[in-house]
Amino acid sequence: MRGFGKYYQKSWEERLAILRDTYRLDDEDLAQIKHLTSDPTLGDTMIENFITEYEIPEGLAINYVVNGQEYLVPMVTEEPSVIAAASNGARLVKAGNGFHAEIKTRLMLGQIIIENVTEMEELVQQIEQQKNHLLEVANQAHPSIVKRGGGARWLRSRVLADDLLSVDLAVDVQEAMGANMLNTMLEKVASEIQLTLHQDILMSILSNYATESLVTVKTEIPVKALSKGQISGKQAAQKIQQASRLAQLDQYRATTHNKGIMNGIDAVAIASGNDWRALEAGAHSYAARDGHYRGLSQWKVAGESLVGEMTLPMPVGSVGGSIKIVPLVKINHKLMQIKNARELAMIIVSVGLGQNLAALYALVTDGIQRGHMRLQLKSLAASIGATPTEIPKLVKRLEEKGVRDSQNAKQILEEMRKD
Ligand code: NDP
Repeated sequence: MRGFGKYYQKSWEERLAILRDTYRLDDEDLAQIKHLTSDPTLGDTMIENFITEYEIPEGLAINYVVNGQEYLVPMVTEEPSVIAAASNGARLVKAGNGFHAEIKTRLMLGQIIIENVTEMEELVQQIEQQKNHLLEVANQAHPSIVKRGGGARWLRSRVLADDLLSVDLAVDVQEAMGANMLNTMLEKVASEIQLTLHQDILMSILSNYATESLVTVKTEIPVKALSKGQISGKQAAQKIQQASRLAQLDQYRATTHNKGIMNGIDAVAIASGNDWRALEAGAHSYAARDGHYRGLSQWKVAGESLVGEMTLPMPVGSVGGSIKIVPLVKINHKLMQIKNARELAMIIVSVGLGQNLAALYALVTDGIQRGHMRLQLKSLAASIGATPTEIPKLVKRLEEKGVRDSQNAKQILEEMRKD
């Protein structure tokens, strides 16, 4: 590719010039790229080969009451209906006592993988004996976290095969997500093991299976809040229970069930500057913790209530990564008015459960398309070139005609314009 050698060393203007010359981007394309770039210096500090910023809309989910406190929740998503559903789920939950969230531990885990082990039992014993020293080595690698009240807490050995051992290190990372901090500690501990115990190290890296950062959210909703048209609240609640059971039994359904949960979780993770790939990986892995991939949430009818519960790893930070760098992320933290990472984690899991409730409620009553498609039609109208003033009229006509494809939408738009 012509012009792309050492692309990272070129200035932002030079990078754009290469795109103009090689890919024939016209003035309008370049103007758009420039318009979207708020700060090329910031972009360059965050990623490599930066050219511009990709826009994803941000909206606010409302009605979130978590542990008695009401929150405004910024969500970043390109998918229509996600924020409406998240707010709607929380509205149903508000008919009860809101979400009750709990965190038992908040430690990040990392692994040092030792390979070519010949005397496994002996090595496990040696690591056990050196435990305190190795924890001290970890803390010396990042002393400021110890000053903040955190630091390495424990380590354990897990034999993975006759020749392969995982030494897991658990660290209290305080307000950070802790990936970089932990990786630094792990590499130092790995060197110590290599030097003093004469072992071969395969790798050292944190684990995104964050089982020491679990958040549990529960809610209890009076069934009468769920009545809809001809369907009684009790019937709707029983169907939600059945939908929950289905997601425990069938992987095809469980995957979609969990995708709906992650619609909410990812959107808040992005808005709050957290690493949503880490959360995705951890959540799906946790969903398969007993060897069978299952729905992350569970709903049960108990008397006149629908009781929901969900536990999943939520290793988010209130500092670190892009959090104190990206201006909008800083604003989002202000909007949420969170005091710390624990509070943020509890809100995020609540949004996941609220999102799930809204999806199941729609699925077992109206069907997903009724609410979903109305919002999708707006995107369809915009995608075929309808102007902001034409969109509401076009959506209405599409709904009346019961059509949802671009061919029909274009035809109706043309007719509207002729009128
Ligand atoms: P940073 O590397 O940005 O580190 C956060 C830093 O914030 C700490 O090291 C600490 O620095 C400082 N800090 C200030 N106040 C506090 C406080 N109260 N508590 C804790 N730390 C504080 O971020 P993380 O280590 O959290 O790593 C997260 C980033 O790592 C994310 O961007 C993620 O995408 C990325 N990542 C993820 C991986 C994965 O998930 N597999 C792998 C590698 C990276 P100091 O003590 O020096 O002041």
